[in-house]
Amino acid sequence: MIRSPKNRWRLPAWARAFARGAADFVYPPACRLCTADLAEREPGCADRAPFCDSCRAELLATRGPACVKCGASIGPYLDPNVPCSFCRNENYAFERVYRLGVYDTALRTACLRSKSSGAEPLTAGLADLMWECEGAELSEARIDVVAPVPHHWFRRFYSPHNPAATLGAAWAGRLKVPQATHILRKCRWTRPQARLLPYERRQNLRNAFQALPAAGLSGAVVLLADDVMTTGATAHEISKVLLQAGAARVVVGVIARGLGRR
Ligand SMILES: [Zn+2]
Ligand SMILES: [Zn+2]
Repeated sequence: MIRSPKNRWRLPAWARAFARGAADFVYPPACRLCTADLAEREPGCADRAPFCDSCRAELLATRGPACVKCGASIGPYLDPNVPCSFCRNENYAFERVYRLGVYDTALRTACLRSKSSGAEPLTAGLADLMWECEGAELSEARIDVVAPVPHHWFRRFYSPHNPAATLGAAWAGRLKVPQATHILRKCRWTRPQARLLPYERRQNLRNAFQALPAAGLSGAVVLLADDVMTTGATAHEISKVLLQAGAARVVVGVIARGLGRR
């Protein structure tokens, strides 16, 4: 079981507040999406995710009832705990999905931007917004460790920012558990999932991921972090690997759920 390390170097609350104030003086707080000035926010909004009211409303516009199992949007009268029409016939290895919204409009734009290099502040802002909405539920999931979906080593050359790792680090910090970037490896190159038909996606990912032998996952509840989930093929394949390595359960955290194309 992976245990949370003692955070002996954590600054006391007053020092963190002082450091935050100093940072705000040097870098005035700005909306991470449109760069609008956030310095004049109401005092009660200081702990909100770093987005202006307009961007915040757009980013949250696609929230609403979602299937607990796969995160797809569902109608207001359906039971979220009953698998929806998208996942009813799937055998997903993960237990459930936490998501901020649907991969559409402003959230789609934000997810696409968050992939570029230097987009860590935007990605961290999206992680904060997700935490505002789903943090209470995530805190109750008894998560032991956060694992981001890994990139293949070759991809790190031309796309150095992996949004999954930035999201995972933010959620691990909130949950006060470690983020384990070392337990998973993408061991072979795969074709981009977005260009494949849904039935080809699972084939494309077969045996593409490995949990390293010393992962120490026995009995652990793992939060698998990624930016977008579309058909769930990637999350399913990695969850299988984590369960085979001894994890007790895998839950998935994403910013956006794709529109559920089969
Ligand atoms: Zn904004
Ligand atoms: Zn579903």
